[in-house]
Amino acid sequence: MRPARLAASVLSLLVLSVSVASAQDVAHRLAQDALIVDTHIDAPGVLMDKWADLGVEARDREFDYPKARAGGLDVAFMSIYTSHAQDNDGTAFQVANRMIDGMEALVQRHPDRFAILTSPRDAQRLLAGGRVLLPLGMENGAPLGDDLANVKFFFDRGVRYITLAHSGNNRIADSSYALEKRWNGLSQFGRRVVGEMNRLGIMVDVSHLSDTSAREAISTSRVPVVATHSAFRHFTPGFERNISDDIARAVAAKGGVVQVPFGTAFINPDSAADTQAHFRAIDDFNKRNADRKARGEAPEDRAAFDKAWSAAHPVRASTLAQALDQVDYGVKLLGVDHVGIGSDFDGVDGELPAELKTVADFPRFVAGLQARGYREADIRKILGGNLMRVWTAVEAGARGP
Ligand SMILES: [Zn+2]
Repeated sequence: MRPARLAASVLSLLVLSVSVASAQDVAHRLAQDALIVDTHIDAPGVLMDKWADLGVEARDREFDYPKARAGGLDVAFMSIYTSHAQDNDGTAFQVANRMIDGMEALVQRHPDRFAILTSPRDAQRLLAGGRVLLPLGMENGAPLGDDLANVKFFFDRGVRYITLAHSGNNRIADSSYALEKRWNGLSQFGRRVVGEMNRLGIMVDVSHLSDTSAREAISTSRVPVVATHSAFRHFTPGFERNISDDIARAVAAKGGVVQVPFGTAFINPDSAADTQAHFRAIDDFNKRNADRKARGEAPEDRAAFDKAWSAAHPVRASTLAQALDQVDYGVKLLGVDHVGIGSDFDGVDGELPAELKTVADFPRFVAGLQARGYREADIRKILGGNLMRVWTAVEAGARGP
């Protein structure tokens, strides 16, 4: 290569690396400056199993205060999650209250770093001084039991959204994961729960619901609804856990927002197919064992089944690009006012895009949106503006306690 050309290519490399560096700086600044709202982080559930102080660096966690600050995360909905098994054994109310106690303890330990956010009106005031705000979202309506008064009880404890069902049909609604549905919509109690949530100003979350339950939840609600962590089914045909185009349109038509998750199981089509196959395989396994029992034979071993399944289905990978594809698709389908983020950090066993491993990585997500040509005003909507608009509308629609 001639010296002049060498010099020119060195110069262009320099220009390129400077512009890459400055693009990252711009993304970092925007992540810090914009209000970032993540509607689904499973930190409370992890705390129940293995305590750590999330006010300081917690090595094995995807959410803690230093990481949230580094990533520019401002409003982190803490998932008060209870399982289908806890619903069945009657412990869901107890577990949910313990988790909320845990969040209150965290805030009391670090009142300068955290606050529980119960109204969008308080956000700016509480953010002052560098706090990260922790609204509570209840994943699974199981803790309500069959007592409508518990909606008010959990509202008073700070819960501001309820995902009506989770991995199994419950007293309120059907689950997308259930192979056989119970209500084909909402139960009568479920319709009253939605009415009571509207009355108090708790957001109705249609993530995890079966299609018929989601449709009825949307049509029953007087105010906009959210899908707090739902990828688009367009990429994973037949996977009911991800939201269909029709239901996403109904959420948007109501003024609501679909918050896209980062978990590999939702955004990688092969991983979603594995999940679906797994549910069917478990169902077959249970049927086989029921037959064996009827014939007086010894049951097959579940641990052996699980081990064989894991060996045959290694963990898949996903990418930042796949997470961004979700946003692109949602924006094309619904418009930029109806898409946001519900990462599922701390809830997917670390199965996340290599570039989005913790809440500290939000600037990479922002840089990705910028690289795809999104305007700053639109990025701000996606990062949190849309969700705050919906929450404000739900609160405005409330008819008081
Ligand atoms: Zn979930």
